[in-house]
Amino acid sequence: MAELTNPSEIARETLRRLAMSRTPPTPDNYLRIYHEIAGSTPTETAFPEAFVRQLARQLPRNNAERTRLARQLEQALAARDASAAQAALNAYFDQLSAEETPAWNELIPQLIRQWEGRQLGWTTARKRDSLNRVLNAGDSNALFARLQALLRAWDQAPIDPELPAPEFEARAPTLAPLVTGLNPAPTLAAAGTDDGIAQALRDLLLLTLQSVVPAFLADHPELIQDAGLIADLARRASDGATLAVIGQQLRKFAHRIEMTAGEAAEVRAGLLELLRLLLQNIDELVLDDQWLQGQIAILRDIVDKPATPRIIDDAEQRLKEVIYKQSQLKHNLVQAQTQLKTMLAGFVDQLASFAASTGSYHDKMGACAQRISAARDITEIGPLLDEVMAETRSIQFKAEQSRGELIAAQQRAMTAEAQIAAMQQALDEASRLVRHDQLTGALNRRGLEEVFQREIARCERYQCPACLALLDIDNFKRLNDTLGHQVGDEALVQLTRVVREHLRPQDTLARYGGEEFVIILPDTELEQAEQALVRLQRELTRAFFMAGEQRVVVTFSAGVTPRRAGEHLEQVLTRADAAMYEAKQAGKNRVVTRDV
Ligand code: GH3
Ligand code: MG
Ligand code: MG
Repeated sequence: MAELTNPSEIARETLRRLAMSRTPPTPDNYLRIYHEIAGSTPTETAFPEAFVRQLARQLPRNNAERTRLARQLEQALAARDASAAQAALNAYFDQLSAEETPAWNELIPQLIRQWEGRQLGWTTARKRDSLNRVLNAGDSNALFARLQALLRAWDQAPIDPELPAPEFEARAPTLAPLVTGLNPAPTLAAAGTDDGIAQALRDLLLLTLQSVVPAFLADHPELIQDAGLIADLARRASDGATLAVIGQQLRKFAHRIEMTAGEAAEVRAGLLELLRLLLQNIDELVLDDQWLQGQIAILRDIVDKPATPRIIDDAEQRLKEVIYKQSQLKHNLVQAQTQLKTMLAGFVDQLASFAASTGSYHDKMGACAQRISAARDITEIGPLLDEVMAETRSIQFKAEQSRGELIAAQQRAMTAEAQIAAMQQALDEASRLVRHDQLTGALNRRGLEEVFQREIARCERYQCPACLALLDIDNFKRLNDTLGHQVGDEALVQLTRVVREHLRPQDTLARYGGEEFVIILPDTELEQAEQALVRLQRELTRAFFMAGEQRVVVTFSAGVTPRRAGEHLEQVLTRADAAMYEAKQAGKNRVVTRDV
C-alpha cells in the first residue's frame, strides 16, 4: 500500500483498522494505530491528568494553610488552568519547606527534666497516662506541639513538698565533679552504678553546652564551636580517661569564658571612659579643627576594628595624651603669642619714636647749621652750640633707652622659650609614668607588671600553663647607624604593629626597653608558645617597609620559657633572657625555648 501522508486519509485508515481488528476505540488505541500508519512517534506524552488529580487529593492537609493550598490546586486542575495549578503547587511546597523542623533536641532534655521533677498533683502514674495520650498524636508536628503543651503544664505546676526528692537530685553533690570537671581525675565508676543517673547528668551537660552556652556567646563562634567539641566528647565518653580529658577541657573552656566576660566588661567601661573624656573636652576641640580631626580619627579607628580591651585601652591612652598636651601647649602657645605681640608692638613704638626723634634731630641740626653759617660773631654761635649739645644728648639717651628695652624684650622671649621647653619635658616625664610606651603604644614596664600579675592570678586559679617570650631586634644598632634613628623608630613601630596583628587576643605585648619586647602568653604550653613566636617571625619578615629606596626587613631573636607556680616576673624574665641570648649566639633570627 502506498504510504499515506494526508492526515485525514490517515485518520480514515485508522478508523478502518480499528473496526477490522475489533480493537476498542479508546484514545490510546487510536493514537497508537494512527502513529503506526503515519510512521511517526508520539511527540508528547499525554498529560497524566488523573494521576495529578489523585496526587492533589492525597496532599497532607494537616494545617489550615496546607488545606487551603491543596484545595486551590484541585480547583485549578478542575478548571484545567495549568499556570494556576503550578502556582498552587509551588506555594504548597514553599509552605512545606518554610516550616521549621521541630527542635526535638531541646524538647527531649526538657522532658527528662520535667519527668524527674516533683510537681504538685502530677504523680508518676498520671504523668505516664498523659504522655501516652499525647503519644497518640497523628503526625510529628502535632506530637511536638502537644508534648510542648504538656511540658508547659508540668513546668507551671508548683513543687510538691510531700514527694521525696528524685534520686539524682539527692545524690547530686557527690556527682558534682562529674559535671563541673573540678575533680582532677573523676571516673565514671565513681558516679555509681546507676547508668540512668550518669545518662541524665550527661544530658544536662549536653544541654548546657549546646543550648545554654551558645545563647550567651553569640559573638564568639569559636567558643560555641569549642563547646560543641566538648559536647561531642561528653556524648561518647565511656571511661575514666575520657572523663578526665573532658574535665581538663572544661576547665580551659571556663577560663576562656571568664576572660571573654571580663573583656566585655572592660570594653564597656573603656568605651564609657572614652566618651566621658571626649565630652569633657569638646569645647576645646571645636576651637581647633586639626585637633578635632586627629581625635575623631582615633575614635574612627576603634569603631572600624573589633573592639578589644587592648585597643580601647590604647585609644584611651592616646586620647588622654593628645588632650593633655593640647591643653598645655595651647595655653603656652597663647601666652607666648601674647608676649611676642606685646614685644613687637613695643619695638615698633620704639622705632617710631626713635625715627621721629632722629627726624626732628636732623631738622634741628640743619636749622642750627644754617644759623651757624649765617652768624656774624661768636656770641651768636655760643647758644647755638648749647642747643646742638642738648639735642645730641637727648637723641643719645633715646637710643640707649631703646636698646635697653630691646634687650629686656629679648630676655623675656628667652625665658618664655625655656618655660615651654621645661613644660615639654615635664609632659614627657608624665607620659613615662603611665602604662604605655609613647613611641609604639605597647605597654611599658609598668603596664607589663600589671598585666603579668592579672594573667598569672587567672592562670593559677585555673591551673593553666602560661609562657613568656623575650624578643630583641637583631642588628638594631646597625639599622640606626646606616638609615638613621627615625628609621629605627619606624622599625620599632612596625614590629609592634605586626606582633599585635598576629597575636591571639589574650596575649599581651610590652616594650621592655630599647629594642626589647616581652610577650605574655596565658593558657599556653611551651611548644605552642614557640610556634606562635615562629609565626610572628615569619609575618614580620613578610611585612617589610621602605625607607626611601631601601627595603627594611626587621628580624628578632627570642627566648621563650614557661612560668612555673610561684615565680615572679623577674625570675621568668631571667630565664627568657638566657634563652634569647642563646638565640643570638646561635646566629640570630631564631626562637630558643628553655624549660625549667
Ligand atoms: P643584636 O643583634 O645583638 O641585638 O645587636 P643590636 O644592634 O640590636 O643591639 P645593641 O644592644 O648593640 O644596640 C641596640 C640599639 O638600639 C642601640 C640604641 O641606640 C638603639 N635604640 C634603643 N632604643 C631606641 C629607640 O627608641 N629608637 C631607636 N631608633 N633606636 C633605639
Ligand atoms: Mg638589646
Ligand atoms: Mg638587638
